[in-house]
Amino acid sequence: MSDSVNVDPAELEKFSALAHHWWDTESEFKPLHMINPLRLGWIDSLAQLQGKEVLDVGCGGGILADAMARSGAAKVTGIDLATKSLRVAQLHALETGTPNISYREISAEALAAEQPAGFDVVTCMEMLEHVPNPASVVQACATLVKPGGWVFFSTLNRNLKAFGLAIVAAEYLLKMLPAGTHEYSKFLRPSELAQFCRQAGLVVQESKGLQYNPISGRYWLSQDCSVNYMLATRRPKA
Ligand code: SAH
Repeated sequence: MSDSVNVDPAELEKFSALAHHWWDTESEFKPLHMINPLRLGWIDSLAQLQGKEVLDVGCGGGILADAMARSGAAKVTGIDLATKSLRVAQLHALETGTPNISYREISAEALAAEQPAGFDVVTCMEMLEHVPNPASVVQACATLVKPGGWVFFSTLNRNLKAFGLAIVAAEYLLKMLPAGTHEYSKFLRPSELAQFCRQAGLVVQESKGLQYNPISGRYWLSQDCSVNYMLATRRPKA
């Protein structure tokens, strides 16, 4: 499966077990479907996806990868280490005729060794909180992007509010996600993620919070990064 030690097989198994639900917009993956237009719009507004070579790290069933290829008109490669999720992603692309998309089972670190500076844009969304060594993935993303290119991350902040909303509310009270989906100790503060980025030579450009109102069921982008947030970074030109 993987030639990298930076993977937690139990984490992959969680996603593989649900793989047949990836494209069910009313399933456990509903939150990802709901935030997808928001993150796609933000990424596209900064990195202008059209015609770009894009890599999506930890792509799962391809929710973002597919949208970047279809609506964003980018040439997209999606990578993950969960075999079943990749099959679902591939099948979805075939069935719906998504242009310019391919999927591979390879770690970010292994692809970085194979194709350094191979992509204009790299996205790594909702994945860092599932790996043993997130700094290593950040470094791999920095190696994979071309000088001047963009790297986007999203993850969950680590504080009492994030614990209450992302774990207690989402997993136990509202049951939006299966219990055990997230492990609090793996959440990353924006300052910690920014530090990994700096160590990898990426320069943080912008951040956005993803807000959710359980009453209206709506999501929106804001400046409040206290729970779910995204960072836009760039590799300096040469
Ligand atoms: N990025 C997608 C899916 C997020 S779910 C989206 O936002 O829509 C987290 C994904 O990370 C799962 O597909 C899981 O299989 C993947 N993942 C977990 N550990 C990984 C690792 N070490 N390498 C690659 N992918 C991993």
